[in-house]
Amino acid sequence: MKETKEIRQSTTDPDCGFMSRENKQEMFCYLDHRTTDMKFNIITDSYVTPGNVHDSVPYLSRLDRQTERFGFKVEAVALDSGYLTNPICKGLHDRNIYGVIAHRRYHPTKGLFPKWKFTYDRERDLYICPNKQELVYRTTTREGYREYKSDPKKCSQCPLLKECTRSKNKQKVVTRHVWEEHKEKVRLNRLSPSGKVLYKYRKEKVERSFADSKELHGLRYCRLRGLRKASEQVLLTAACQNMKKIATYLAKQG
Ligand code: SF4
Repeated sequence: MKETKEIRQSTTDPDCGFMSRENKQEMFCYLDHRTTDMKFNIITDSYVTPGNVHDSVPYLSRLDRQTERFGFKVEAVALDSGYLTNPICKGLHDRNIYGVIAHRRYHPTKGLFPKWKFTYDRERDLYICPNKQELVYRTTTREGYREYKSDPKKCSQCPLLKECTRSKNKQKVVTRHVWEEHKEKVRLNRLSPSGKVLYKYRKEKVERSFADSKELHGLRYCRLRGLRKASEQVLLTAACQNMKKIATYLAKQG
């Protein structure tokens, strides 16, 4: 049976989207996908989408747009946990960009082992389970996930079975995306000294930029309806913030 998804639509502004995220207020809104530079905190890109578009969706295309349009040589980026996806990690690797992305907490099924309890053996391309058994590669799904499966005969004798799987055939399956290694590299970047410094800057730069937009430039609420008009408001706000930044810098330079 084909899965269906209910999409809520605003009756007053059909262009916006319903945002529903953990620990955030649910609402109809637009999202401003923003990039700022690290040195001067100039807004280099502001792209508006309906509120139900995930942050990670437009990311790489907006990054490319900036490098093409402004000729930026991007060395590093720092992103929040919403961007920790395999395509973004792979995309940063392909563009030779040092990526630091905040950790995203995955919630394992209650009562079952989280995935990190299974150790990946890169050389032999298999997983070792908490009972020291091997889960070997079987197949790759259309979505790009490699499946590693346990031996059901060994699992049926295992004292940890109840905490490991609820499958009827007593077989544990662990998946690994074909681009998982890029995600692991980004994770190591985050834990490195330079990654920690870079991520600290993210909070001081782009988060500050959003806070200024809301508190000083009235961007907490849309003044007009429709994607185009919301984009105009966001772009004008970004232009004002940039002008202020440049003016302040020039004033300091005398
Ligand atoms: S049930 Fe199987 S895969 Fe899970 S810990 Fe036991 S032996 Fe390992």
